[in-house]
Amino acid sequence: AAAKKQAGEQQLQLPPLEGAVQGQVVTRFPPEPNGYPHIGHAKAAIIDEEYARMYGGKLILRFDDTNPLKEKLEYYDAIAEGLEWLGVKPDIVKNTSDDIDLLHSYGRKLIELDGAYVCTCSQDTIHDLRAKGIPCECRRDLATALERAEKMFGGSYDQNEAIVRFKGDMADQNTAMRDPTLFRIIEGDHPKLGSRVRVWPTYDFAAPIEDSIDGVTHAMRTKEYELRNALYFAILERLKLRKPYLIEFSRLEFEGMPVSKRKIRPLIDNGTIKSWDDPRLPTLAAFRKRGFMPEAIRKFVLSLGFTLAETKPPFETLEAFNRKIIDPISPRLFFVKNPIEVHVEGAQETEVVLKNHPTDASLGTRKVRVRDRLYIAGDDAVGLKTGDEIRLIELYNIKITGVSSKNGGRAITAKVGGDEIRQLMPKIQWIAKNDIVEYKVMIPKALYIGEEYNMNSLEIARGFAESFVSGLKPDTRVQFVRFGFCRIDDNQTAIMTHR
Ligand code: ATP
Ligand code: MG
Ligand code: MG
Repeated sequence: AAAKKQAGEQQLQLPPLEGAVQGQVVTRFPPEPNGYPHIGHAKAAIIDEEYARMYGGKLILRFDDTNPLKEKLEYYDAIAEGLEWLGVKPDIVKNTSDDIDLLHSYGRKLIELDGAYVCTCSQDTIHDLRAKGIPCECRRDLATALERAEKMFGGSYDQNEAIVRFKGDMADQNTAMRDPTLFRIIEGDHPKLGSRVRVWPTYDFAAPIEDSIDGVTHAMRTKEYELRNALYFAILERLKLRKPYLIEFSRLEFEGMPVSKRKIRPLIDNGTIKSWDDPRLPTLAAFRKRGFMPEAIRKFVLSLGFTLAETKPPFETLEAFNRKIIDPISPRLFFVKNPIEVHVEGAQETEVVLKNHPTDASLGTRKVRVRDRLYIAGDDAVGLKTGDEIRLIELYNIKITGVSSKNGGRAITAKVGGDEIRQLMPKIQWIAKNDIVEYKVMIPKALYIGEEYNMNSLEIARGFAESFVSGLKPDTRVQFVRFGFCRIDDNQTAIMTHR
């Protein structure tokens, strides 16, 4: 068992970083504040942080905010909050936009070095020539490029009139090197800089420069950027800037829970999903609301290791890490879905003391007064017939004496049965009629089935909980017996974390 435990822990260690020097590693997590952080961002941020800590180095959180049309203050805050919840603590927080003047000057410098030029071709022409691998007229001479650079950075071009392009190789096999865009003009209100700035660097230009000037030693990003690595290094090469190591890892998402904004934003925009913390979403706000523990997410991410393969790990793996953490701290309580009344004829009024946890006495007990009427879950009542004997957990056995359906509902009569708890006897949760609160549990399911939105992605289970539940503080973790682990949301609602 000790060996097994050790193996489990070894798995949670990332492989060493190439070229890492103790005390000198600098990593960065560069989210664009154009949406809420999701489980994929958690993976990137956790790996960045783990490496910074492993080598006694630094982690930079850099908001990659160079598109005023997409970025909002709300998203900067959501990202900061998400990371705080995850327990990721950056040593330095900055914005790419803080360096906008510097980025402009590197752009001009690159043009002066004949490493870039201003292109005024139409988008169609650019697209067309790129596909054919042919350079355009704008690429020709340095004098024109310099003159146009003045206009570009001086603000005399209109939106869509000109872009700055890298002088790559229009015939390169790697299309990312076919004179990619480095700056474009975007009119818009930037959350940090307002409308003062019109010329914005692309990710391709800003990322290598920021990494280099921020002192980043190991820059990690997802695998889809792989073809852009050559460009990253070529820009630094021409500007004679220090080059970090670039390392790729695979994107993380779960089956049925896409992280892509293309799939999520329409559901928010058309009101199908009301907020970014809806428990069906892959956002950190949603995982939090649903009751996942941040430590479970970290362990899960580390258990995946540094794979390059684009696999979607089963959601159950994350659940298993979470269950391990919440199982010891979650009180066991009763909730009955679609309740059916049971009249236990002749039952004496009693007070039972129920343990809140089967093994940890420190979680305490609760007292429940039971008279002769109680409720069981609809599913447990299905098929019950006269003569059946069932165990009401921690109470007594009952023997069914009658099953009736009156007024479209169902009701059961029973009498107190024997004391013996037999192996095959159903053992079910119950709630005393004098101790109920109406309660509902939201049960998130897969948001997507294949390419289709799942209309049944949010089940709402309605029923009764013990009155004890209505006194629990929001955010408490509980296990509703034979139902699932849940997070208490308010005094009428819980959200199922997982079974
Ligand atoms: P999205 O469109 O989902 O927000 P993105 O790549 O545009 O994805 P960024 O905010 O630019 O998101 O990403 C910040 C960092 O997080 C990048 O280093 C990126 O590689 C990483 N990242 C984003 N999505 C994932 C994912 N699903 N799995 C792992 N890392 C991711
Ligand atoms: Mg993003
Ligand atoms: Mg991005």
